[in-house]
Amino acid sequence: MRPDPIQRLDTTLFWDACERGEFVAQKCEPCNKLWHPPRPMCPSCHSLEKSTQPLSGKAKVLSWVRQVRPASYGFKESPIVILVELEEGLRMVSNLVGDEPPIIGDAVEVDFEKTMGGKAVPVFKKVAT
Ligand SMILES: [Zn+2]
Repeated sequence: MRPDPIQRLDTTLFWDACERGEFVAQKCEPCNKLWHPPRPMCPSCHSLEKSTQPLSGKAKVLSWVRQVRPASYGFKESPIVILVELEEGLRMVSNLVGDEPPIIGDAVEVDFEKTMGGKAVPVFKKVAT
């Protein structure tokens, strides 16, 4: 089973949204910049005025890797780790659903998987083409 996410004061909004099946990022009110992972201050203008914006969940694969030995903690077989670029321009590291390695540039979309403590984390699945 997948380990729970490590929650901190600044990241709780993201993980709580995942539990509701929502995929979000923080947005700076003064300069409209989106960022991920969550943090208290806009990385561009350092404003503390922020809101939460829903994301489309659509992305493309920029890179991937699969750990061979030892298997990742909590998994029988290590998942495929992917770096994706979201439609909104943000990049994030996640897992690809399934056993089939991606091709760089593959279209993927977000999904959520349960963790051992009943939380949820975002993962990505290939979009049928
Ligand atoms: Zn800003």
